[in-house]
Amino acid sequence: MREALQRVAQALGPDAHLMVVGGWVRDHLLGREAGDMDLASALMPEEVMRRAQAAGLKALPTGLQHGTVTVLSEGHGFEITTFRGDGDYLDGRHPESVRLGVSLKEDLARRDFSINAMAIPVEAMDASQIGEHLVDPFDGRGDLDQRLIQAVGDPLKRFAEDGLRPLRACRFASQLEFDVEGETLKAIPMRLEVSSKVAVERVFVELTKLLCGRDPKRGLQLLADSGLLDLWTEELRSMIGCTQNLHHRFPVWDHTLEAVAFAPPEPALRWAALLHDVGKPATRSVDAAGNVHFYGHEAVSLEVTERILKRLKVSLALLREVLALIRHHGTHPTEEWSDAACRRFLRKLAEDELPLEQWGRFRIADQLAKGFGEEPYRGEHEKVMSRMQRLAEAKPPLNPRALVLDGRALLALAGKRAGAWVGELQKHLLDAVIEDPALNTTKDLEDLVQGWLKQSSNKG
Ligand code: ATP
Ligand code: MG
Repeated sequence: MREALQRVAQALGPDAHLMVVGGWVRDHLLGREAGDMDLASALMPEEVMRRAQAAGLKALPTGLQHGTVTVLSEGHGFEITTFRGDGDYLDGRHPESVRLGVSLKEDLARRDFSINAMAIPVEAMDASQIGEHLVDPFDGRGDLDQRLIQAVGDPLKRFAEDGLRPLRACRFASQLEFDVEGETLKAIPMRLEVSSKVAVERVFVELTKLLCGRDPKRGLQLLADSGLLDLWTEELRSMIGCTQNLHHRFPVWDHTLEAVAFAPPEPALRWAALLHDVGKPATRSVDAAGNVHFYGHEAVSLEVTERILKRLKVSLALLREVLALIRHHGTHPTEEWSDAACRRFLRKLAEDELPLEQWGRFRIADQLAKGFGEEPYRGEHEKVMSRMQRLAEAKPPLNPRALVLDGRALLALAGKRAGAWVGELQKHLLDAVIEDPALNTTKDLEDLVQGWLKQSSNKG
């Protein structure tokens, strides 16, 4: 990759000042695995294309209106954007115009945070002394050392231009485990109006990155303290300070933060952790003995979760998985459960297309988040999981398709026309084989069918 990039730099020539800018530089200096690489150059886009093509490289005009060209070299695509300044911001998100051909310093000045406003010449990327070549007009290096997210310039002005930036600040705090610098932090609540205009699709991307970061508790607490939380998820506010019963050390909000942090960093698991108890505040009651209950909170959590995730226009696949995780989070199979009861639960998971492993990963996160350490839960959880896995490995029939008699066979046996009765009969057969999987043979199912037909004709 580096060689392919050096080839592009050579093709463009030294006066192109080809630089790596933004997130890649930040992550590289932090020793983090860097994501996509953004490149910037002093050349105008047409000139980038001309010189690349003259050197035998393919170049595509992928974003000319922003000054972006993609140059292909040895199978890699490099996005190169001409140094640019932003015009006025009128809609709280996008500049009205861009000015190409400004200085590198001006290009860096339009970037959001000092740690994202550094550049390295492509030729110096491999040098052990990057420090000498680093272009860093806003002391991003110093803020990396102090682990601070600090706006470039006046944060009130920068957040008035683009309401996404406050959300990015909280997201980077979670991903990098950094603090938000004081003035930058103070500016967030003063610009909520601008942030409220950001497209929900963008909000969802940022919130998901925040949730999947290394310190999501920090990011979520920043959202709550700054008021950003209420712009898209006001339903979460009532979890703060909502105290629970003996089974929990923490109030609902603190338990939620723990659950998010314990859940593996995957979008569905982390979103489910954030929302699984959102129905608790509305269902909280205290009985005569002073015990706290949350009767029916799962149903309310499901309702509120669906509302929030639809508001954020998430994909149907994510919505379904989050709802399935929440729907089954309160089920705790015990040793007293019969094998048949466990299989009935496996059937419910299968109906919701929720893999057993995924259910288990969420369950243990929720347990550990109760705040009593690992000891009471790990061993019990492993026992539950190994029993469930053993039962699942026997591949019991969990849906009508797994019955040895298919729909057509049932029609033939009954000698009746298709109708709603087929589904009812299949359910009856499935109930029986879940109770006893050995019954899933042609002979046994035929007997069951005959019995059911006789009974239903008596009824009819
Ligand atoms: P990630 O790790 O998510 O890619 P990133 O910092 O690289 O983080 P990108 O969205 O890829 O984020 O943006 C690349 C660069 O563009 C940033 O590092 C920053 O310099 C600049 N940038 C991105 N979004 C904004 C914004 N809303 N306002 C100002 N500058 C921005
Ligand atoms: Mg990036």
